[in-house]
Amino acid sequence: MDALEQKAIELIERAGDRGVLQSELWKKLGINSREGSRVVAKLQRRGLIKREPAVFQGKRTFRIVSAKRQTPKVTVTIDSVKGIPCFSCPDIERCGVGQPISPVTCPKLNKYLMEEIAKLKSSAMG
Ligand code: SF4
Repeated sequence: MDALEQKAIELIERAGDRGVLQSELWKKLGINSREGSRVVAKLQRRGLIKREPAVFQGKRTFRIVSAKRQTPKVTVTIDSVKGIPCFSCPDIERCGVGQPISPVTCPKLNKYLMEEIAKLKSSAMG
């Protein structure tokens, strides 16, 4: 990959999910559209970027986004679930919605959920 392609991919990756309009990319790289199209075609062939149709100032163009776009990762760890009271509950076999022992009315589960919500709220507030 040459220096121009390297710079282009860095700019595209830095733009994140919103990507960068072709013309904006040419401008940032200080190149004309012919050279820009060549760079983009090479990066696209290598599977590093994607071109998505876009409209800018009434004109059709392309938005260039990194193929490495991040999707939020959800990680479930043992620590995040080990406090759930059901895992160690002696009533788990008899517990069910509509039963005398039910997760809907369970004070242990309710207490656990309220504590988790309080933790989430306090971490969201920083
Ligand atoms: S909801 Fe309550 S009663 Fe049911 S299994 Fe969980 S902790 Fe036990």
